[in-house]
Amino acid sequence: MCTLKAAVVPVTPFRQNCTILFDDASGVGTVVDPGGDVPMILAALSRHGVKVEQILLTHGHVDHAAGAALLQEQLNASGTEGAPIIPVVGPDRRDAFLLEGLEQQALQFGIEGARNLVPDRWLAEGEQVTIAGHPFDVLHCPGHTPGHLAFAAPGLGFAILGDVLFHGSVGRTDFPYGDTDALIRSIRTKILPLGDDIAFICGHGPGSTIGAERLGNPFLQG
Ligand SMILES: [Zn+2]
Repeated sequence: MCTLKAAVVPVTPFRQNCTILFDDASGVGTVVDPGGDVPMILAALSRHGVKVEQILLTHGHVDHAAGAALLQEQLNASGTEGAPIIPVVGPDRRDAFLLEGLEQQALQFGIEGARNLVPDRWLAEGEQVTIAGHPFDVLHCPGHTPGHLAFAAPGLGFAILGDVLFHGSVGRTDFPYGDTDALIRSIRTKILPLGDDIAFICGHGPGSTIGAERLGNPFLQG
């Protein structure tokens, strides 16, 4: 029986969906995209009794990644002595330039507590990450950023898509490094093939299903 639960904490002025995925029975869980508001994330973890196994990043934008270093430090400081350190995992190495500029990005947008970051482990297409005991496939989905990743567990009918595909929209590509063609190609070749029944949580706004977006998302018609 699947006991994977999701708790969403909107963080930063961008209301980014920091998502805690955890196993209700064991309490083991992963924090995805802690962009900021670390005290709110810590409060949610304690409310749900989650023991964090890792911090996972979809991409290097400030609203997704700027709180990761502080959250990691606070979780490791509150852990028992000798406990394994809680790693920051992902995104793809091609987002390193964004993670190196998090403090600068944060100043621009008034996000507090931001720290530049080098993840403990980069991820790449074809790898898997284990979230609360469930394997998730790592999908490289460039376009919004060069190193953007999505995480999909077809067995659970569930995926985390970051800023690739939203309910009724897609990720912005109006950055110097953005690439609209690459983004649409990522969605068509990596996300849609996951299947219509896959439900997803994305970086902003409500989640949806692949099928609903394939049929109704204006960016995917024609
Ligand atoms: Zn983004």
